[in-house]
Amino acid sequence: MATSNGGGYRNGGLKAAAKERSLSLNSNNKSSSLKSKPSVNSGGVRRNSTGSLGGTVKDSDAGVDYVFFDIVPGRVRVAVRLRPRNTEELAADADFADCVELQPELKRLKLRRNNWDSDTYEFDEVLTEFASQKRVYEVVAKPVVESVLDGYNGTLMAYGQTGTGKTYTLGRLGEEDTAARGIMVRAMEDILAEISLETDSVSVSYLQFFIRTTRVLHHHVQLYMEMIQDLLDPTNDSISIMEDPKTGDISLPGATVVEIRDQRSFLELLRLGEAHRFAANTKLNTESSRSHAILMVHVKKSVKGRDSGFSGENGNTAHMTRTSKPPMIRKGKLVVVDLAGSERINKSGSEGHTLEEAKSINLSLSALGKCINALAENSAHVPVRDSKLTRLLKDSFGGTARTSLVITIGPSPRHRGETASTIMFGQRAMKVENMLKIKEEFDYKSLSRRLDIQIDTLIAEHERQQKVFQDEIERIAVEAQKRIAEAEGNYADALEKERLTYQKDYMESIKMLEEQWALKLEKQADVRNKLGTKDDGFCNPPSGEVAFSAGEVAEVKKLLQNETLMRKAAEEEANNLRSQLMQWKRSEAAGNSEILNLRKMLEDEARQKEKFEEEIAILQSQLLQISFEADETRRNLDKGGTAKVPSSLDSLISQVRHPHLKDSANGEKASIAKLFEQGDAKLFSGSSKIYCCLCSFFLINSCTSTVGLQKILSLLEAEDPDVRIHAVKVVANLAAEETNQQKIVEAGGLMSLLTLLRSSEDETIHRVAAGAVANLAMNETNQELIMAQGGIALLSETASNAEDPQTLRMVAGAIANLCGN
Ligand code: ADP
Ligand code: MG
Repeated sequence: MATSNGGGYRNGGLKAAAKERSLSLNSNNKSSSLKSKPSVNSGGVRRNSTGSLGGTVKDSDAGVDYVFFDIVPGRVRVAVRLRPRNTEELAADADFADCVELQPELKRLKLRRNNWDSDTYEFDEVLTEFASQKRVYEVVAKPVVESVLDGYNGTLMAYGQTGTGKTYTLGRLGEEDTAARGIMVRAMEDILAEISLETDSVSVSYLQFFIRTTRVLHHHVQLYMEMIQDLLDPTNDSISIMEDPKTGDISLPGATVVEIRDQRSFLELLRLGEAHRFAANTKLNTESSRSHAILMVHVKKSVKGRDSGFSGENGNTAHMTRTSKPPMIRKGKLVVVDLAGSERINKSGSEGHTLEEAKSINLSLSALGKCINALAENSAHVPVRDSKLTRLLKDSFGGTARTSLVITIGPSPRHRGETASTIMFGQRAMKVENMLKIKEEFDYKSLSRRLDIQIDTLIAEHERQQKVFQDEIERIAVEAQKRIAEAEGNYADALEKERLTYQKDYMESIKMLEEQWALKLEKQADVRNKLGTKDDGFCNPPSGEVAFSAGEVAEVKKLLQNETLMRKAAEEEANNLRSQLMQWKRSEAAGNSEILNLRKMLEDEARQKEKFEEEIAILQSQLLQISFEADETRRNLDKGGTAKVPSSLDSLISQVRHPHLKDSANGEKASIAKLFEQGDAKLFSGSSKIYCCLCSFFLINSCTSTVGLQKILSLLEAEDPDVRIHAVKVVANLAAEETNQQKIVEAGGLMSLLTLLRSSEDETIHRVAAGAVANLAMNETNQELIMAQGGIALLSETASNAEDPQTLRMVAGAIANLCGN
């Protein structure tokens, strides 16, 4: 149980603390607690001398035992709640201080009389403008709700000026902000959490009290009728009150009673009641602040562990139940009263309202005040019957009931009067007529206050977060459910698919087996036929019935199977061998063609080798011949005198001069020409062959030999143009040597060259011959000779006919050499 003052709040629950507090608060009072009057008490309750109540009462007619545990005198617990400044007050009262100052830690309220003086009042709880709804519920209502669950009647009332937060405190649904839930909603939450829907029950009635004024025709008389309207069925507005003469229980037989199974349906019901209240007041042209709204909650709860939880003040179990009794049900009734605005009482007097008006407005409220006063004064008579409200509350106010009153006040100094009146009502409800007025000032415990505020803020935040968390959990649960459903769907699909596949496979296998079976049967018939023809002992009867035993059939089947297997194996083997053979054949063919290729290559190679060997032999013999002839020539030259040109050279020259004569060549001496003829024509082609011969000739026979030179010069007149060209080239090269120049001229070379220049039309001959002349022109004597033989003119003519720039260069060189001298 959450009580912030050390737990003394519950009137009847935590008795010791309550008593202690009452005593300390009321040391100068006649009475320290609100004592239940016999007239208010439930029937049959006896009080002992110490004020505690206990015992059993037997109602033999109803067959019910009413059991009272540990009933101690209690008093109405009163909390004061301050509403924060509203927008209007924030603007209008900006320059003024609040008319009250709260000291929650001391449970005191200071009401300003003026700027320097204030009256101090003590309450059971002082709730600041920062108090969270949860905290208010816990300190004001929770103990009462717990009592109701324990089988007591409980009352929660809000009293105060219109607009100070009575409905806010009691009736807020908190749909938009879960932390704003009021006492009604939270009380039902707690009740639903504590009961079991199988064995227990909760039912609710929702009513409105208002005054109907009727003027009696022609009599100038007003009738004021207190009406009780059913907010769950607004057409029913004359509900009567019944009192059980034996138990003293109050009931409203005409009111709608709705059984509550969950919080949602309760909220729905509250909304409906509120809407009806609004509609009804609009129709009657009244304000809801003129009427009282009453919510009655009936709780029936079975007692599980009878002995548990009912220990007395000293810890002794004071049970008076009979163990043989059937399970006991505890009936508790919670009455939540949102009273009409208290300002009516005040205004009716101070502002000159008529008694009638006052009556019409607050008849029941003043009756309640009177009852409270009477109870507070311990008066012998409590005027319960003055009003329907007090009659209705008869079993809920004092006695076995636990009652909590919240008085709501506003901070505005403009409503100080109403606030003061509300405070006094609260004080009376606490049965404290002459409240101790403490004059001394206490140090304001601001730190404590701040912490309190923080706690309240945190409490509210915590509640919000809890809601968010719960929503999240719900969302996750829904999501999980969805996923599970999805997975299940997928699994079912997969399963179905698998099943269909297997079914198909199965059908196919069956079909195959049937076919095989048919085949086997056929085979068996064949075998039988065969056997029948072989051995009459096993012959089938003519009807064709199967005469084999099952064993024989199995054997035949096995044989057949073996045979099939063997046949398959043999076929496989044959296939293997066949493919191997193919492979082998293929590789053999490849090998054969390879061998053929190699053989061909070998033959080619052999032929080539033979040819090369032949060529080598020829070349060797040629070399031998040439070296032999060279030796001979050298010897002849060494002998001096008229040297004889080797016959081979002679024949060669004659051959090149007169090619047509080559066939008639003398066979006595092997000539170079003949050698050439013998050789492969492919090795030395035409002119290059000649040139090579000439070169070798000059290499072998030193060029200075006059005989050799003359022979070369004679070649300048050869018929073959190629021979002529090569001869000129040789002469030109020889002319480059200073030692040869004189000899060439002496041998008539110059003349031959000039003749060639004149007669030939070949550009190459012109170019080389001009070069040769240029070389010869380096010698002074030759220059004169050249000039004398018309060389200049001839060169000029050559130049004019020349197309090759090289020829021009040669001519220019020759002329330059001639001119140089
Ligand atoms: P009553 O029922 O006493 O006439 P209401 O409960 O209708 O007053 O409150 C009047 C206005 O003041 C409403 O707008 C309500 O929301 C606001 N109010 C009352 N008490 C509080 C509070 N403790 N904190 C914030 N707002 C409040
Ligand atoms: Mg209200």
